[in-house]
Amino acid sequence: MPPPKPRVGELLAKKAGRKLGVPVVAAHRAVLSQPMDWKNLPKVLFPNNPKAQEILGKDMMSRAACFWATNCIRGCSIRANFQSTTVLLPPALATGNLDIITDAMVREVVLDDSGKATGVHYIDKVTRRDAIAKARVVILAASTCETSRILLNSKSRDKAGLANSSGQVGLNLMDSVGTRLGAHIPAMEDLPPMNEDGAGGLHTYVPWWLVNEHAKLGFARGYHIEMGGGRQMPEVKNFGYLDSTSPGVYGRKLKEEARRYYGAQFGFSGRGEMLPNKDCYSELDPNVVDQWGIPVLRFHWKWSDHEIKQAEHMQQSFAAMIEGMGGKAKPLSGADAIQRPGEIIHEVGTARMGYKAAESVANQYCQTWDVKNLFLMDGSVLPSNPDKNPTLTILALAWRSSEWLMEEMKRGNI
Ligand code: SF4
Repeated sequence: MPPPKPRVGELLAKKAGRKLGVPVVAAHRAVLSQPMDWKNLPKVLFPNNPKAQEILGKDMMSRAACFWATNCIRGCSIRANFQSTTVLLPPALATGNLDIITDAMVREVVLDDSGKATGVHYIDKVTRRDAIAKARVVILAASTCETSRILLNSKSRDKAGLANSSGQVGLNLMDSVGTRLGAHIPAMEDLPPMNEDGAGGLHTYVPWWLVNEHAKLGFARGYHIEMGGGRQMPEVKNFGYLDSTSPGVYGRKLKEEARRYYGAQFGFSGRGEMLPNKDCYSELDPNVVDQWGIPVLRFHWKWSDHEIKQAEHMQQSFAAMIEGMGGKAKPLSGADAIQRPGEIIHEVGTARMGYKAAESVANQYCQTWDVKNLFLMDGSVLPSNPDKNPTLTILALAWRSSEWLMEEMKRGNI
């Protein structure tokens, strides 16, 4: 689909990037910029399945294109942006084959005597009663850390912890490397009033551009840059900037200053690849349980030199971009700038996929090596954390694994 149009700050960033050799390109978002091709797409996606074509065609027809003016983070009532609650679940419910049990806190996967998964044991959060959901196949997609927590809290035949013969459950925990830097850009002062809300986030983006220069950089892999600023729907916190531009003003002057400076802030944030290391992992806390009596995880974390250097490089790049846009930047050191682990909410790892059962928890189809009818379809299986936001990769892997699972079920292997 066509990407959303760049806004004032993004055009300025593009200009600055051109001089610095930093490519600022259009960001294609998971937001409909035009109506969906509901007549043809379902046939392409489900060529031999008329029922799926019909359900999906109707569903796609009812999704509208974005009107670029509301806060996507709160959910999209016209279903222009992608959310599982509005885009994936309605057609799945329309098949008549889906039951959703809400307010269910899963404690563990239940096995039969042969070691096969037979369902999950959960607590109904409303009645606080224990219950079992029976299943021919169990797919955990509880989010990275919760999936490994369920595995560690489950019991395999001879020991605590399920699908963990490799000892890898809980290890290789990663988040994205993140830092940010913003500044006042005088060229963006006094812009005419306009709505720059757009598609709830960036319309332009910088993919990693120094892929051939690692020898000089001192760290492996790379990062992408996201950016934002301008005249978007104000929030109370946005007005703090007047303390620095116009301290002490009030009355008419305050209004004039607000009109002059509002929207003249622009910032960059980086999302970088972290490599797994032995110091970053989770394990069951032996002393703490949650309100349901289920042991919680405790986390261990230490950024390696590699991530600290990457964060420092991000700060230098952001500062160069800000200066190129006419602002004044104060870059921080990598150690001071790097955001806390978990803050970017891209946590992945802890049950990695791999080629060998001895070194990984699941195979390339997200099937656990130890329990053939137990699958992990979330970020837990990612063996590394590329700089890209992980959601689309998780969806793609889940889709591929689900198709393989269906075939295996038809073949009678599962
Ligand atoms: S701006 Fe966001 S919430 Fe508003 S219509 Fe577009 S996608 Fe939906």
